[in-house]
Amino acid sequence: MSYLSNLHTHTDFCDGVDSAEAMVKRAVSMGYKSLGFSGHSYAPFDVPNCMTEQGTGEYVSEILRLREKYRDKIQIYLGIEQDMMYKMIEYPYDYVIGSMHYIKIGDEYVSVDYTDAIAENAVKKYFSGDWYRYCEAYYASVKDVAKITGCNIVGHFDLVTKFNEGNKYFDENSYKYRASAIEALRAVAQDCNLFEINTGGIYRRKRSAPYPADFLLRELHKIGGEIVFSSDSHDEKSLGFMFFEASELAKSCGFRYAKLLLDGKFTDVRL
Ligand SMILES: [Zn+2]
Ligand SMILES: [Zn+2]
Repeated sequence: MSYLSNLHTHTDFCDGVDSAEAMVKRAVSMGYKSLGFSGHSYAPFDVPNCMTEQGTGEYVSEILRLREKYRDKIQIYLGIEQDMMYKMIEYPYDYVIGSMHYIKIGDEYVSVDYTDAIAENAVKKYFSGDWYRYCEAYYASVKDVAKITGCNIVGHFDLVTKFNEGNKYFDENSYKYRASAIEALRAVAQDCNLFEINTGGIYRRKRSAPYPADFLLRELHKIGGEIVFSSDSHDEKSLGFMFFEASELAKSCGFRYAKLLLDGKFTDVRL
């Protein structure tokens, strides 16, 4: 399987380290057919990690400029990683990745993505130290991610496991954890059944397996869901990271095809 595309790509317009043009050049050098950008949508409660309102406009202009400049070498798509906790700034996006990076508790937006210390504190402060209740709150919210964002792709569905490598805080094999995850997956799939298999957590050395976990992928396949591969790249070197392994995982969960955005359409590629 050669999956020469990535639609989950960050740049220095948000919390990525490389410029959009550096990402394009890298993708061209790797023989990519398409590359889509997905800057973090503006969120007033998380300015350092997201694009600003003005920055979103600049991002859009730059991606459209690159699309023209590299037109004969690669297909460039304009996307956004839209967090469900804040409204979208409308631009003519080719696709939307719907994600949830925060649990909203009262007036506070608690990041599930930033550091293990933040997650630990939140569990202590709001869930009496009970990680299962924290996970339940995450899934009770993320089940609406596609409804709210109107996304084409569901981003890192079980991000709540980010700091839980080796079941450090909760048992991902337990019924208690899995029940709410599966229920949320089924709910999300009714609004958007295309999920990404995201290897970004492995690249950043937080996880040894991609999002979502294999039991969720098997469930997704069972209910007719579909997949794309994404490296959730924040630097050029990570483009396509572990896509071969992700593809083998997908096959072991029953998938025979993945979707690839080409000529403006999501088309099937055989795994
Ligand atoms: Zn994300
Ligand atoms: Zn991302």
